[in-house]
Amino acid sequence: MTLLWFNDIVNQIIEITQMNKMISIVVPVFNEEDSLEGLLKAIKDSLDKKSISFEVIFVDDGSSDRSWSIIETLSRRFEEVRGLKLSRNVGQHNAIIAGFENSIGTYVVTIDADMQDNPDVLPRIYEKLKSGFDIVGCRRKVRRDNFLRRFLSFVMHYTIRHFTKLGRVSTREFTDFGCMLRGYRRWVVEKVIELGGKSVYIPTFAALIGGDFCEIEIEHVTRVKGKSKYGISRLLSLYFDMITDISLLPVQVISLLGILLSFAGFALGVIIFLRRIFIGPEVEGVFTLFAFLFVFTGVLLISVGLIGEYVGRIYKEVNKKPRFIVTEKSGFRKGLRIGVFAYSEVGYSCLEQLIRMGEDIVFVVTHRDNKNENIWFRSVGELAHKFNIPLLKPESIKEGKFIDVISSFKPDIILSFYFRKIFSEELVSIPSLGCINLHGSLLPTYRGRAPVNWAIINGGKETGVTFHYMTQKVDAGPIIVQKRIKIENDDTGLSLTKKIASCGAKLLEDVVEGLNEQNLRSTLQDETKATYFGKRTPSMGEIDWQWDNEKIYNYVRALTSPFPGAFFVLEDKKCIIWRGEKKECGNREPPGTIVGISRDSVIVKTGSGCFRITEVEIDGERLTPEGFVKHLKLKKGNSLGG
Ligand code: UDP
Ligand code: MG
Repeated sequence: MTLLWFNDIVNQIIEITQMNKMISIVVPVFNEEDSLEGLLKAIKDSLDKKSISFEVIFVDDGSSDRSWSIIETLSRRFEEVRGLKLSRNVGQHNAIIAGFENSIGTYVVTIDADMQDNPDVLPRIYEKLKSGFDIVGCRRKVRRDNFLRRFLSFVMHYTIRHFTKLGRVSTREFTDFGCMLRGYRRWVVEKVIELGGKSVYIPTFAALIGGDFCEIEIEHVTRVKGKSKYGISRLLSLYFDMITDISLLPVQVISLLGILLSFAGFALGVIIFLRRIFIGPEVEGVFTLFAFLFVFTGVLLISVGLIGEYVGRIYKEVNKKPRFIVTEKSGFRKGLRIGVFAYSEVGYSCLEQLIRMGEDIVFVVTHRDNKNENIWFRSVGELAHKFNIPLLKPESIKEGKFIDVISSFKPDIILSFYFRKIFSEELVSIPSLGCINLHGSLLPTYRGRAPVNWAIINGGKETGVTFHYMTQKVDAGPIIVQKRIKIENDDTGLSLTKKIASCGAKLLEDVVEGLNEQNLRSTLQDETKATYFGKRTPSMGEIDWQWDNEKIYNYVRALTSPFPGAFFVLEDKKCIIWRGEKKECGNREPPGTIVGISRDSVIVKTGSGCFRITEVEIDGERLTPEGFVKHLKLKKGNSLGG
C-alpha cells in the first residue's frame, strides 16, 4: 500500500517534469526582415498543435535592415518570443552561441531564418530528444541550393566524413552537417558554449562532444525571401572552421606529403647524380626539374597557409576579443506583461514613465484623434510607435474581435490612463491581475468625465490622483493609492492637468512595484461620499453675469485654452473670455454693466464684485479689451447681458 502510494507520487513527479520540458528555438538573423513573421507563425503552428511549450530567440547578427525592429515588436506581441541584438555581424555560429547563452529550454533547437527547412518537423525533433537522444540532426532529402553551393558542400562533407570519421557510431552516422536544423539536449549546448572556440562550427563541434545521436530525413526548399548570406569566401572560412575545429588531419596529411616528397626528391637527386657521372649532364631535363619545383612550391605554400590557419585560430582564442557583444535584449521577461490603454497628456506621461522604467509593455490601445477636437497633448500613438510597441486604435473596444486580440497578448495586467471608453466586463476579466485605472480626482468625489475642469469650476481647493481597480461601475472600484494636489488660486485646467500627469506618473512607479511584489492592497470606496460629474461640452461654458465674480473667475480659468473657453453671448455673438480676474468694487449698477474701460481691460459688474476681462475672442478672432470695445461699439454703462 505504502509502496503504491510512493509510486504514485514518483509517477506524478515524472509527469510534471515531463510536462515542463521546454524547447528553446534559436534563430540567427542577418538581414531577414521578410522572413521573420512567417517563420514565427510556422514555428507556433507546428508546436502549438502538439501543445509543446517553447521560446523563440531571434539573434540579430548586426542586420542593417528592419530585422531588429520586427524582432522587438514580435517579442512584445508574443509571450514566447525574445530578441538579442548583437553589436555587429559576428557570423551565424557566434550568433547562435549568443542565443544558446540566453536560452532556458531543456532542449535547444537551431533553425535558419529563411524557412528552407520547414519548422513542421520541430515536434519530431522534440520527440527524439525526449526519447533520450542528445543530438538530433536532419538530413535534407533533396537539397535545393544552386550547383556551386551543393558542390562546395559536397567537398566539405566528404572530407569531414571520410577523413575524420566524425559522427559515426557503429552503423549510424551524420550525413548532413550543413543542415542547421538540429536539436540538442541542454548539456550539449552548455559544452558548446564552454568549449566551442571563437571560430566554432556548431554541428560538427557538437558531434565531436559526443552523446547519443540520430538523424531524421526532411524536405528542403529553395529560399523564397531574402538572399543566401554565404558567398565563396564565407563558405571557405566556414570550411576551415569546420575542419580545424575538429581535427589536425589536414596538417598531418601535408606532413605526410612532405615526407613522401622529400623521399622522392632524394631519390631523384641520387638518380641525377649517378646519371651525371655515368652519362654526363642532361640539359633537356631542366624542364622536368621546373615541374617538380612548381609542385614543391605549391605544396610548401599550402602547408604554410594551413599552418597559418591553425595559428590564426590559436591567436583568436588567446586574443581577448569577445565572440559577440549583446547590446539590446527584448522579451526576456523580468516582470509582468502590461497592457496599456491611454490617451491625452496624462496617458502620454504615464506611458513614458512605464517605458522609462523598462517595463514589459505588450500593447498600447489609444484613440484616433478627433478632427474637431483641439489636440494640444502629446501623442500616445507616436510614443508607442517610436518604441516598437504594438499599437491598436479600435473603433470599438466591445467587439469580439478586439477582445480576442487583447486576450492573445496574454497581459497580466491592464493599466488605463485617461482612456475615454468604458471597459466591458469581458475586457476587465482578461488580465489575471485585473485592470487598474488612473483617475484625476480624489475618488469617490468627481467620478465621471473632465474631473479637473469640474473641480476648478466648483471652486475646489484640492484634488488629486487615484489609482483604482476597474469594475463595471465607472470610477467606483476599490482604491489602491491616492495623492492629494492643492488647487492654487491661479491654476487653470491646463496647469492642473499637467500636475495630475506628473503626479500620476510618479505614483505609477509605486503601483507597478506593488504589482511586481504582489503586495498591492486596496480599499472599497465610501459610496455615501461619492459625487459624479458627466461629460462637458463647449456650450456648458456659458457664464451669467448674475453670478459672483469668484464663480465667473473659476469658469474662465477652468475652461481657458486648450479647453473651449468660458463665454457670454452678446448680440448673437459668442464672446469667449480667455483671461481675466476678480476685482473688488463698490459699484451698484446691475450685473453685466460695463463699469470701466481701459486699454488693457474691460471691467464688468457681476452678482457680487466686479470682473476684469483681459483677453477675449469674438467670432473666432482674439482681441485686446480695447479692440473688443471698439468692435462692438461699447461704452461705459452699456450692458453685456445678464
Ligand atoms: N546568418 C547570420 N549571420 C551571418 C550570416 C547568416 O546570422 O553572418 C543567418 C541567416 O540570417 C540565416 C542563417 O544564418 O538565418 C543561414 O544563412 P543563409 O540562409 O544565408 O545560409 P544558406 O541557407 O545559404 O546556407
Ligand atoms: Mg538558407
